[in-house]
Amino acid sequence: MQLRYSFRLYPSAGQRSALARAFGCARVVFNDALRVREEARAAGLPFVTSAELSKRLTAAKRTPERAWLGEVSAVVLQQSLRDLDTAYRNFFDGLKGKRPRMGAPRYKTKRDTRQSIRFTANAAWRITPGGKLRLPKIGDVKVKWSRTLPSVPSTVTVIKDSAGRYFASFVVETGPEEPLPQTTPEVGIDLGLGHFAVLSDGTKIDSPRFLRRAEKRLRKAQRELSRKQKGSKNRDKARTKVARAHAKVADARREFHHQLSTQLIRENQAIAVEDLAVKGLARTRLAKSVHDAGWSAFVSMLEYKAARYGRTFIRIGRFEPTSQVCSVCGVKDGPKPLHVRTWTCSACGAVLDRDINAAVNVAKAAGLAVSACGAQVRPGPVPAPRSEAGTHQELPTASPQWEQIGIPGL
Ligand SMILES: [Zn+2]
Repeated sequence: MQLRYSFRLYPSAGQRSALARAFGCARVVFNDALRVREEARAAGLPFVTSAELSKRLTAAKRTPERAWLGEVSAVVLQQSLRDLDTAYRNFFDGLKGKRPRMGAPRYKTKRDTRQSIRFTANAAWRITPGGKLRLPKIGDVKVKWSRTLPSVPSTVTVIKDSAGRYFASFVVETGPEEPLPQTTPEVGIDLGLGHFAVLSDGTKIDSPRFLRRAEKRLRKAQRELSRKQKGSKNRDKARTKVARAHAKVADARREFHHQLSTQLIRENQAIAVEDLAVKGLARTRLAKSVHDAGWSAFVSMLEYKAARYGRTFIRIGRFEPTSQVCSVCGVKDGPKPLHVRTWTCSACGAVLDRDINAAVNVAKAAGLAVSACGAQVRPGPVPAPRSEAGTHQELPTASPQWEQIGIPGL
């Protein structure tokens, strides 16, 4: 399995300008190549191949206008051409319906918030015995190794984010899986809007305090920025502050996702989530909270950790109307407006919590053995008859006496 590991880099002033040059060159190569292809398309000529682009790049380096491309590692420039190919492939695959549709490749600008360059094995980059990252034509850059790499990576991507921070991102081939000891619980998760996540056992999980605090500071910085006069020095300062606060929120959120996904993987043998139609939701007013919550990042963490530690991960289709079906009797009750947090099933009388009910439905749709009891608000006062007391793990619908006995509140 391939995993991505990121570490903070602390380049010196000289290295920062070398990196700026490399980012700039990579961008120019990308844009030049994109222009060549766009012009060919406009002229009705065939698609310009990667080999042809590569040849043109070599030729361009010999011209006075592009001679400065020679100051940067050739591998970085070649990788920039690869990136363009990937952008085209994704675009074409989207047109063919092989993946979600995306826009045609676009020109990169200096103002792009994230700049990056990639060094492959050919670039002869390496980690020095002293623990620095040696990059060709840049130097030995200081790294904060916050985790150990499980194996030697073959490529490194150097990134500068909108807050002006530098990172080295390695793709590492991890060794064999490390299965955790088997356990029995199975859980369905509803990624709600009120809470970050709701589990089929009734647990509701909110964002931790450190994340909420970071978010609060970001909002404050944004408010301050909006009050500053356009074009003023103070506005520039405030903008940097917002970018930093943004970065802090992103870090805190990633940390929270890691903690929660690890905990869920440890405690459960099988995990089911709903394949979120984030794209669909993004068009609604909920868009902001959906994106902020970073669900897809969290779900992909669950997925790779499940694979790594020998757990079962199931994504159920979004066609399942998880919030419309009573998780106790299975009757489809029709859509309910978002403000309806609890309702009484018209068929079986169970009083259901919207989020937990959805989580139980997710688990059931995935074929997990979960009880629907958690979905109900305050179980009814009628105790279960002795013969039924041990069947909590079974789906109530599987027991015909259930309705006859008439204990909807169980
Ligand atoms: Zn019902």
